[in-house]
Amino acid sequence: MTTTSRRTVLVTGSTSGIGEAIAAAFARDGATVIVNGRDPQRTDAAAERLREADKDGEFLAVAADISTAQGARTLTDAVPDVDVLVNNAAIFSATPAFDITDEEWRRSFETNVLGGIRLTRHYAPRMVQRGWGRVVFISSESAISIPTEMIHYGATKTAQLAAARGFAQEVAGTGVTVNTILPGPTLTPGVEEFLTDRFGNDIPLAEAERRFITQERPTSLLRRFIRPEEVASLVHYVGSDAASATTGAALRVDGGIANTVIP
Ligand code: NAD
Repeated sequence: MTTTSRRTVLVTGSTSGIGEAIAAAFARDGATVIVNGRDPQRTDAAAERLREADKDGEFLAVAADISTAQGARTLTDAVPDVDVLVNNAAIFSATPAFDITDEEWRRSFETNVLGGIRLTRHYAPRMVQRGWGRVVFISSESAISIPTEMIHYGATKTAQLAAARGFAQEVAGTGVTVNTILPGPTLTPGVEEFLTDRFGNDIPLAEAERRFITQERPTSLLRRFIRPEEVASLVHYVGSDAASATTGAALRVDGGIANTVIP
């Protein structure tokens, strides 16, 4: 038996990028995966794409906006129990620090922080009752190196570290673990678009990637963008039986970009 087979795994924001790769990793291991996004058509399409790539994979699409209490309820009504909760959905936008409005701060907080907290409040106590569970918050290296053009994003990613650590303390000794993952710059479809906008269509994507990392992220020890599958490997491990002694931790998959040996 593999490590997460027959388990139910909810990955919020799994209609693209890192979330989709995380969904694929758990399904490959035999888990039933709940695919989530805001838009019903995009959510169904992502589940179909995942099924096509993995004929044995079990995927259930549930569209719900996790930034609202009602959206969270839609999700928890459709799937009352999960063994692994991956709080991955997030939004980000580049705005000069003094121009970020109350509304933008609020929206970031409600999606990136409160969304995961609401779902954790529902699912984690039920995991405790069953004596096993995994909650994984997808934060970012931006939690520790706050981007000047996205301080609202950075602040929400730091808040996730605190919330996850607190929940881990709350479920101490129960068989349930709560951890945070800090990815670095990862080549998702959204980031590909950003690179094309930034460097134009005239140069190949690989060259745009190289320029961005060497010029703007020079502390990267990896010297390239991380692939979504590389983030998914760590999330899959943390969500498995094998990671039973890892809890209350912040784990980096950032290609060494943060010039520190902790967290
Ligand atoms: P993405 O924009 O490609 O995907 C985000 C997903 O979240 C999408 O499926 C979107 O539909 C969903 N989503 C957004 N708001 C939602 C809501 N209210 N309800 C339900 N779903 C919602 O993002 P990504 O780059 O794959 O990022 C995934 C996670 O990884 C995020 O938490 C992000 O902060 C983190 N991260 C990304 C990078 C990177 O370079 N891509 C780096 C560090 C951390």
